[in-house]
Amino acid sequence: MTDKQKMPIAGLHCHQCGKVEEILPDMPDSLTFEKASETFQLISDPARLRILWLLCHREVCVNNIALCVNMSAPAVSHHLRLLKQAGLLTSRREGKEMYYKLAQTPEASLVHKAVDDILDIKCPA
Ligand SMILES: [Zn+2]
Repeated sequence: MTDKQKMPIAGLHCHQCGKVEEILPDMPDSLTFEKASETFQLISDPARLRILWLLCHREVCVNNIALCVNMSAPAVSHHLRLLKQAGLLTSRREGKEMYYKLAQTPEASLVHKAVDDILDIKCPA
């Protein structure tokens, strides 16, 4: 944080919420918000949400993911690539097959919880 951020903001619209200045030093920088926004954009796609729901609960190979979500393997691969680039998925190769599952990171756990909570479901056994 810079000293500039700690200075009172001149011309605040009203003083009811003047204490907003207290939290401004903790406001993340724009890059951090951009990164968060990219994650939200990734999970804002219904097809990717469906794939994520599956991979939150099982490790599945590309062809079986395609069958489960009723999409072509190339379309599924495209979504998997984006989700993996964002660090939400991990993959491993076994023979000719690539298997995907949710990454074991705090962000991925949050996405799992969000998917379950927003869909209002319990984790399947
Ligand atoms: Zn779950």
